[in-house]
This record gives sequence, C-alpha cells and structure tokens, in this order.
Amino acid sequence: MEKVIGKTKLSFIQGDITLQETEAIVNAANTSLLGGGGVDGAIHRAGGPKILEECKEIRAKQGGCPTGEAVITTGGNMAAEYVIHTVGPVWSGGSHKSRNESQLLRNAYYNSLNLAKKNGIKSISFPSISTGVYRFPIEKAARIALTTVKEFIEEYHFVEVRFVLFSEKDLRVYEEALREVT
Ligand code: ADP
Repeated sequence: MEKVIGKTKLSFIQGDITLQETEAIVNAANTSLLGGGGVDGAIHRAGGPKILEECKEIRAKQGGCPTGEAVITTGGNMAAEYVIHTVGPVWSGGSHKSRNESQLLRNAYYNSLNLAKKNGIKSISFPSISTGVYRFPIEKAARIALTTVKEFIEEYHFVEVRFVLFSEKDLRVYEEALREVT
C-alpha cells in the first residue's frame, strides 16, 4: 500500500528491514547500542561487525543512546548506506504519567527523521519500533508512528518513507492506522 503525502511517498510492505535498499534503515535499538534481539540482532547480523564498532565509538563519546533519541552509523554490508539507531520506550502500561511512553515513541520517530534530514538522506525504512520485546500495543504505536511521520513530511520532503512490517497482521494494523490519521 502507498500514499503520497506532500511530495513524499509513504509506503507499507511486509518484509525484512535488513533487505531494504532505501538510503537508511532504522534500528529499534536499546540504550546500550551494543545489539540485542529482534530487529537489532538482525541488523547486526546482516550488517556485520563494522556497525558494532561504530556503535562502540558513539558509546565512548556519549555513553549510549537515551530513550527517544537517535544516532547514525553506516550500513556495513547491507544495501542501505546508513543505519539510524533509535531507542523506543518499554511499555509499562501507559498509566504512569512520568514514564510518558507515547511521547517517547513519538520522539524516537521524530528524532530519526530529523537525523535523516540533517544527513541529507532522502529515503528511509522504519520497523515497528517498541512493539516487539518492548510490548507497546501495536494499534497505538502505529497511530503514533504515522501521526509523527505525517506531520514531518508535511514540512519536509523525502522521496520515500517506508514501513517494513514483519507479519501480515502487523502490516494490516499499520494500513488501518493510516486510514485513521489521513
Ligand atoms: P523493540 O525492542 O523496540 O520492541 P523488536 O526488535 O523486539 O523491537 O521488535 C519490533 C518489531 O520488529 C516486532 O514487530 C518484530 O516482529 C519486528 N521484527 C523483528 N525482526 C525484524 C526484521 N528483520 N525486519 C522487520 N521487522 C522485524
């Protein structure tokens, strides 16, 4: 499914984020930047050791990546030139105001897009941040993701922003959320 918003093609596919040929892919990383399971593990396996070396350099400089922030490395052996590593929030029920999971998820998308913009990146693929091991409810996460992307691309033009969902079920959730927010 795709939809043009402003001058940006917003597209949705079922697939593996590590295989995308967009200029950048986004990693659902953790604050350590040292790799993990899910998307993170897949990206480090496909990209090779160079990405971890770059992550370690970033850690040495700034001590990891806080939740909601983003950092950039090369794509190592993958087709994508860059990986933008962002850290989504861990879902803890949504009722602790101080935890602010929704705002932090929004920040993760916004800061990833902004870092792409600063690096002149014109096409970018996102996974469904926080909806795996971090347990953020996917319907809510999809609405936050799409609202944030939509607002960004109304102001700034990418060639393409792609969402890469691992399952057909998740793909349908994102397509439904797109109908709700546009
Ligand atoms: P988080 O820790 O932010 O929750 P996960 O990596 O655990 O991140 O999961 C985020 C989503 O990405 C889940 O829906 C998971 O099924 C999906 N996923 C896992 N591996 C891949 C992959 N290679 N490409 C795209 N999506 C993936």
